[in-house]
Amino acid sequence: MNGSKGRIAIVGAGPAGMAAALAAIRLGFDVTLFERAKEIRAAGNILNLWPPPQKVLKLIGVDTEDLGAPCHTYFENSRGKRRADVQLPAEVEAEYGGGFIGLLRWGLYQRMIDAIPPGVVKLDHQLTHIEDKGNSVRLKFANGLSHDADVLIGADGINSFVRKHLWGNRPIRHQRLHLVGGYLFLDEEPQGVGILAHNRTTQVSYTPIRHEGKWGYEWWVLEACDPDAPPPEDLIGFCRTRAKGFSKTVRDLIEATPLEHMQRWEIRDRPPLKAWSKGRITLVGDAAHPTSPYAAYGAGMSIEDGYFVARELDAVSLSDTAAVRSALVAFETRRIPHTVQITQGAYFTGKIFHHCPAFLRPLRDWVFDNTPFLQKMVGDEMPAHILSQLAEIEDCEPYVPVHKRVKEPAL
Ligand SMILES: Cc1cc2nc3c(=O)[nH]c(=O)nc-3n(C[C@H](O)[C@H](O)[C@H](O)COP(=O)(O)OP(=O)(O)OC[C@H]3O[C@@H](n4cnc5c(N)ncnc54)[C@H](O)[C@@H]3O)c2cc1C
Repeated sequence: MNGSKGRIAIVGAGPAGMAAALAAIRLGFDVTLFERAKEIRAAGNILNLWPPPQKVLKLIGVDTEDLGAPCHTYFENSRGKRRADVQLPAEVEAEYGGGFIGLLRWGLYQRMIDAIPPGVVKLDHQLTHIEDKGNSVRLKFANGLSHDADVLIGADGINSFVRKHLWGNRPIRHQRLHLVGGYLFLDEEPQGVGILAHNRTTQVSYTPIRHEGKWGYEWWVLEACDPDAPPPEDLIGFCRTRAKGFSKTVRDLIEATPLEHMQRWEIRDRPPLKAWSKGRITLVGDAAHPTSPYAAYGAGMSIEDGYFVARELDAVSLSDTAAVRSALVAFETRRIPHTVQITQGAYFTGKIFHHCPAFLRPLRDWVFDNTPFLQKMVGDEMPAHILSQLAEIEDCEPYVPVHKRVKEPAL
């Protein structure tokens, strides 16, 4: 292994791949990060991050100072009746700049790119072939180049080539939902409050954002759609119509947003896998567990995956195939239960809000408006997941970057 701790190849330079690369580099591995595009590009515009990914970003050397706008989140109905308060403990809010932060996706990518040493990222490398040779993995790319590594981490997103190689071509799950998201900048600092509001069929929500020293807001409109129908041609008109009856604040934000700051996505994920890795190959991020935006946690969990996979590999010698195997099993054993709970929770939340039969919607909304059901479902449960992840990250041995390690004196 040329004197290094071993060669880790990562495919896909999204949040999962960049986090895995940064975590592994700081533990002394020889890391190469392959990306098919000619430059690293943020897929999408708006983003929120919970405290666990913020904690991981700090640990792996990403500058998180002033990364996003602090935000306390409430669920409401479209007329402003409060249904749930997503309440993180005060000390967590204090440590993580409000806890849930709002930012632009590119702001996160730029901070992660800045932390990666030169020479690690290989652009214009689309993975097209994988051969697990037992004691190493050989990768081949569309540009004709090849690369050998001790471990391959597939961070190549929802349509992962690595996932397909390991587990075959399983169907995508169309959630029959679409989301239009937009953002705008403002001169003054917004209130640190995010409102996730629903009427009988539609969600129209907003949170404050911070991006490169500028304040602003992001907002989104989410509702059921027919995946075979053509997308709306007039995005502003579409959002304006859907936001009727919601607060003036969100309607004004939509009206003030430039068209070039709006984007539409159809929401898709995949049913959870029972296992992620085989031999010397594993998956992280959307390649392992594509997640509906209802959790606002897909990028966050991807960043956590990158941290934990590097930690597990740090405990073994990459020249020992059985030990690599046990490290990858330990990684997925730790991560699968958490990611399944979040991805399935997000999937079913989308169903409850947008695919409930019309005759049941008044009853559903009465329950949401008049009982603690939604508080339990989202207001209490999500903070419980967040606290358990923070504790899990803390429970790992102290994370000492390789250049700061002091050799134990020989006994
Ligand atoms: C509308 C919307 C809103 C969202 N909001 C939030 C939010 O608020 N908070 C949150 O945490 N998450 C959010 N998410 C989820 C989040 O965007 C994803 O979970 C996250 O981007 C996954 O990161 P990733 O690195 O695993 O995959 P990706 O970001 O998809 O990156 C995969 C990378 O792999 C590269 N690649 C693919 N195939 C190959 C190949 N064969 N060879 C080489 N490279 C390859 C791609 O070019 C890409 O760069 C949202 C998602 C959507 C759609």
